[in-house]
Amino acid sequence: MVDIESLGDWRRTHYSDMITPSLRGTEVTIFGWIQDLRDLGNIIFVTLRDKEGLVQITATSKNTDAETFAKIKSLGRQSTVGIKGLIAERSEAPKGVELIPKEVRILNLAVPPLPLDPTGRVPAEIDVRLDARVLDLRRPEPQTIFRIRHEVLAGIRKFLSEKGYLEIHTPRIIAAGAEGGATLFTVEYFDEKAYLAQSPELYKEELTSVFEKVFEIGIFFRAEESHTRRHLNEFISVDVEEAFVEARDVMVLQEELLVSILNRLTTRCQEQLEVLQVKLPNVHLPLVRYSYSEVIDQLKQNDFKVEWGEDLSTPAYRALGDLHKEVFYFITEWPTKVRPFYIKPKAERPEICDAFDFMYEWIEITSGGSRVDSKQQLTKRLEDQGLNPESFDFHLSTYDYGMPPHAGWGMGLDRFVMALLRRENIRDVVLFPRDRLRLKP
Ligand code: ATP
Ligand code: MG
Repeated sequence: MVDIESLGDWRRTHYSDMITPSLRGTEVTIFGWIQDLRDLGNIIFVTLRDKEGLVQITATSKNTDAETFAKIKSLGRQSTVGIKGLIAERSEAPKGVELIPKEVRILNLAVPPLPLDPTGRVPAEIDVRLDARVLDLRRPEPQTIFRIRHEVLAGIRKFLSEKGYLEIHTPRIIAAGAEGGATLFTVEYFDEKAYLAQSPELYKEELTSVFEKVFEIGIFFRAEESHTRRHLNEFISVDVEEAFVEARDVMVLQEELLVSILNRLTTRCQEQLEVLQVKLPNVHLPLVRYSYSEVIDQLKQNDFKVEWGEDLSTPAYRALGDLHKEVFYFITEWPTKVRPFYIKPKAERPEICDAFDFMYEWIEITSGGSRVDSKQQLTKRLEDQGLNPESFDFHLSTYDYGMPPHAGWGMGLDRFVMALLRRENIRDVVLFPRDRLRLKP
């Protein structure tokens, strides 16, 4: 029976990455998890993992007292421990350094058998990994994805704030959806029926009449029925909206954001990108802009059956991805009928609207456009799409307070990270994904 000990007055003096040969002879206290343990009888090699990496601990029956040695022998993989010891040089150890243990505190034991191998030596299926996500995240690769994701997010916030956009938070519990009724989740709101927001669309548009330039980074919900590699029921959207500009202006913003994030990752995440063996996509501005009509022609020329006026199906996107390998590009000037009611039709050709998608290969990363800014036109667009303008009275009334011309976009953060890191499945870049079949963990 192993006794579980308390943290007591032990506090960390060093993270694994601070343990270097130049500190030989220094006594340190480290905490972490047993990543690996090789017991050769009179010598035990332990690899301890903390948030910064790994460190080797070498216990021998000579350098470690009998009680501590026995304790180390009893440890199972992924157990949580604190170790006090002396830093020593050892050329054969990773980074040429190891710890000679003096005292060990066992803070918790992991219970074998573990559902997957956290060293990553034995690969596991995505569902096994997601079922034991916290354990899966102890593997270097998934952990690295989320460290890079953090950098992407920090970079987006910095970029938009420095450009003068104000960060906003709009409601998640709403009375009417903006992105089509089929993907709305219903919630009981006391005696009323309410919905979970699919996007911040209407609110961010309204706020351009106050703050002019706004952005939101938030979780949104879609009751997507289909199980795909790029849809989840909860996702993070990065939304931008700006007064006195058009679609083409916010497309430039999207391009600049892309370059700024690629530069940030290049300067700050080399080590992590190497862990993932990822080469960032090459980008030259301006990105190519194809009109929807050009895209339809491209598909037709490649014997793909598609008609002008249809929304693009998943197979159509796949075919498009084959034509545009490893590049970011835009698709502009969509048929008005396949776009949401708030997108502005072209004055001279109202069957086409000023909408765009920002794409990576076959995957839509962002949708945006110039927005309708006349109350009368918006009411008409709602009716044309079979929606009841009365359900949107709260939104339409704000058009009586002086709505500026405005444009913006919504970018799926998860899809963006997926594209940057060339992952095939959105679930790889989301900590606890929610899909039709997954409500836990
Ligand atoms: P799709 O056609 O791929 O289903 P959409 O056109 O319905 O997407 P938009 O309403 O344009 O999606 O939302 C803007 C962006 O938000 C999308 O380009 C995408 O990156 C992201 N997004 C939308 N729905 C989802 C989802 N279910 N899961 C993950 N990301 C999503
Ligand atoms: Mg879209």
